[in-house]
Amino acid sequence: MKIAFRPHHFLCTLGFRGSGYSPHFVKNYTQIVEALQRDEELPIQVIEGADSICAACPHQSIEGCAVEEKIQGLDARHAHILNLKAGGVLSWKEAQQRLKDHMTIEAFHHACAGCEWKAWGVCEIALRKLRAEER
Ligand code: SF4
Repeated sequence: MKIAFRPHHFLCTLGFRGSGYSPHFVKNYTQIVEALQRDEELPIQVIEGADSICAACPHQSIEGCAVEEKIQGLDARHAHILNLKAGGVLSWKEAQQRLKDHMTIEAFHHACAGCEWKAWGVCEIALRKLRAEER
């Protein structure tokens, strides 16, 4: 499975708990998460714009993402904090280490500002758990 993530989807993936915008979106995302959990060495390419997760999103159309402007803000903040560059490749294991090292809880509140899922709390819980783990 070839996986490409736009910058903010690394943390989203850590927090994914089987919810999303449609059954098709959730099925696709679940397959990606399960593949990464089976093999943490799987390479993930960093890209700009629609990625492996967006591919099944109902907000995508021929005109692109319906909320692209907001999403670009999330991507810019996550890319800066995690030092992610378009075209770069890292494994899920490396990505988690980068989240653990650089995504403080304070940084998370800044990076994810404006996301409709943030108040649900699962991303923050997943990040706190990762940061507390010995790695
Ligand atoms: S708060 Fe939103 S952008 Fe941030 S990790 Fe969670 S789902 Fe992704």
